[in-house]
Amino acid sequence: MSWYEYESAAERKAAVQRKIEKRRKRGEHFEAFDSPKGTKLTSSFWGQAWCRHLENYCGYENRLPKGRTYLRQGNVYNFSTDGGKVSAEVAGSDLYTVEISLAPLPPAAWKKIKDECAGKVGSLLDLLSGKLGDHVMKIVTDPLTGLFPRRQEIRHGCSCPDFADLCKHQAAVLYAIGVRFDQDPKTFFELRGVDPSELIAVSATALTGPGGAEADELAGEDLSALFGIDFAAPDPRPVPTTAAAPPAQKGSSKKTVAKKALATPAKQGKGRHPGPS
Ligand SMILES: [Zn+2]
Repeated sequence: MSWYEYESAAERKAAVQRKIEKRRKRGEHFEAFDSPKGTKLTSSFWGQAWCRHLENYCGYENRLPKGRTYLRQGNVYNFSTDGGKVSAEVAGSDLYTVEISLAPLPPAAWKKIKDECAGKVGSLLDLLSGKLGDHVMKIVTDPLTGLFPRRQEIRHGCSCPDFADLCKHQAAVLYAIGVRFDQDPKTFFELRGVDPSELIAVSATALTGPGGAEADELAGEDLSALFGIDFAAPDPRPVPTTAAAPPAQKGSSKKTVAKKALATPAKQGKGRHPGPS
């Protein structure tokens, strides 16, 4: 990078920070995503498995490293999830809105996973903390039949002018999802539209017969201590409100995400989201 380019990049960055401060002063919620400071981006089973899964998507390899850097540099703001949707704002040359959606796991696929894992997951605590035997681990991480979305089941869009299938802002948010799984692994199951306790209920039924009472007892065990989250209490994560649809602003950042094909189901199969890698 030449000195001129370096200087203009620094100026753009400072301008974006001023924009953020201005919005904060207007009372807008603007929270930086808490990205890890250590050498490892993710440390839990679900967080690491998510990142590995992303890195196996064909065609993502060139953009993902830049996304990791963006995340580590603290450029992701207002990260929120709502059902199968994730939204965030990412600071780059401007502030951009990223939206990602995951299709729900098809009921037949979920049933197959539950059948195959029956009796093999000890408790919800084991499941969420990734204490799983090789057999279950293989089932849930299978790239085609496991819990992780196939490439055509994940859609993403960004309001930036980069027309690449995956820009660095989207890549940063994809990695932020993995970090969120470290903090709250239940989010993974929410994004896929399935209830993880069903996996335990099926297992408990197989182990102890109908009723699965054992599963209920195990379900709440030590989860708060492990993840710092009270699973019995209302979801403490920020409720997505303005982050998903920030008020329209002047300037280039107000282009809608739809422009970059947050592909609707009707648009799928048009080549933006080719088949599984
Ligand atoms: Zn972008």
